Amino acid sequence: MGRQYLKEVTSLPGLKAASSVDVPAIVREVIESIRGDGDAAVRKYSEKFDKWSPPSFKLSQADIDAAIANCPKQTLDDIKEVQQNVRAFAEAQKGSLKDFEVEIRPGVHLGQKNVPIDHVGAYIPGGRYPLLASAHMTILTAKVAGVKNVTGCTPPINGKIPFSTVAAMHLAGADEIFLLGGVQAVAAMAIGTETIQKVDFLAGPGNAFVAEGKRQLFGEVGIDLFAGPTEILILADQSADVFTVATDLISQAEHGPDTPAVLITTCAELGRKTIETVNRLLTASDLSTGSVAKTSWDAFGEVIIVDTMDELWELGNQYASEHVQVFTRTPRDALERMTNYGALFLGEKTCVSYGDKVIGTNHVLPTRTTSRYTGGLWVGKYLKTCTYQEVTSDQASGDLGRLCGRAARAENFEAHARSGDLRANKYKKDQIKW
Ligand code: NAD
Repeated sequence: MGRQYLKEVTSLPGLKAASSVDVPAIVREVIESIRGDGDAAVRKYSEKFDKWSPPSFKLSQADIDAAIANCPKQTLDDIKEVQQNVRAFAEAQKGSLKDFEVEIRPGVHLGQKNVPIDHVGAYIPGGRYPLLASAHMTILTAKVAGVKNVTGCTPPINGKIPFSTVAAMHLAGADEIFLLGGVQAVAAMAIGTETIQKVDFLAGPGNAFVAEGKRQLFGEVGIDLFAGPTEILILADQSADVFTVATDLISQAEHGPDTPAVLITTCAELGRKTIETVNRLLTASDLSTGSVAKTSWDAFGEVIIVDTMDELWELGNQYASEHVQVFTRTPRDALERMTNYGALFLGEKTCVSYGDKVIGTNHVLPTRTTSRYTGGLWVGKYLKTCTYQEVTSDQASGDLGRLCGRAARAENFEAHARSGDLRANKYKKDQIKW
């Protein structure tokens, strides 16, 4: 029958312009102002974008204690339980990273060590919602990796301290917490100001401004990945339950007005019913975030019918979505067939919301098709894989010296060649003359 687009599609979601605003230009202006004027510029943009200009952006221990005291006990218990899950998975990931040393030929020892980055700046989004789970994902994971200093930034929400986010940041192990949002936060951490120490690496998700800020600052600091506005792709056959599909699409669409929520299915009836159900649920008065989710769904929601499972996997890989839920009879097939995704959610018993909030895998994931070349945030992103070498025998050093002399001269590197020659002369009694 051929592919059918039940809900209009103009291009792959990652390639659509998410905003008519010139985000790169705004971001450039903020970064350059902070580079020139430090704290004064940070304050100017915090006032402009967040109407927030406290005497100090840094939270004192008393501020942090007060935030924790303001959290319901259940919230604190839940934060601790989720952090146990995140820590357990991050520790398992760390265990998979081995330092090693190998003797590749007699007397030639090569090794690698995974060395934690010294100072990380973690951005915890909070413009629209107190995204406290991002504190577990960025700060706690950095601490499991062994990062000594973690500076955390999160914006105020409507001019107020987001108590639960601050509590989560503290419990995750943040060394310093600043109540600062947007580009002014990531730029201040990357460049350094009179009051905010320069970091080596920026991590964490955020809106289009934050993601573009990290992109422009890359090089000056490291960044984890391009983790911008979230996305969901559901791959389903006729075994999927329409109400579950619709509910899960909406669960991501509520993140913001620019969230692609896409269903690709082999079942046309499921596609049609999903559109009806999403529209019905979005207009139901009991969904407090219905209006933002509807804006997203109207602009970025897609439902595509394909003929075969092969086409389903192929198109799914082309979307290279951040989150991919698989509602098929044998969902683990996706482990073989899918190659481009941030995180996979196999079967109806799990969902993106589990990954976002509680289950323990990291929710900072690649967006805008960048899962073509990277996975999400994990312990390994906070570790530098550094190599070392040692030659322990005269024979090995002399042999390498001869080889190096020839290899370097083939590239016209005479000085390199002499470093090899001198060792050939010293350890193999060669008599190479310069
Ligand atoms: P945010 O903290 O990312 O951004 C809020 C900040 O944006 C504000 O503090 C403000 O300074 C700045 N800002 C707002 N309007 C601006 C403007 N016109 N010009 C310059 N700066 C401006 O919070 P948010 O806006 O709620 O966005 C959170 C985002 O994080 C969502 O898009 C969500 O999808 C995304 N997210 C992504 C992932 C991922 O892994 N990819 C995970 C979680 C959340």
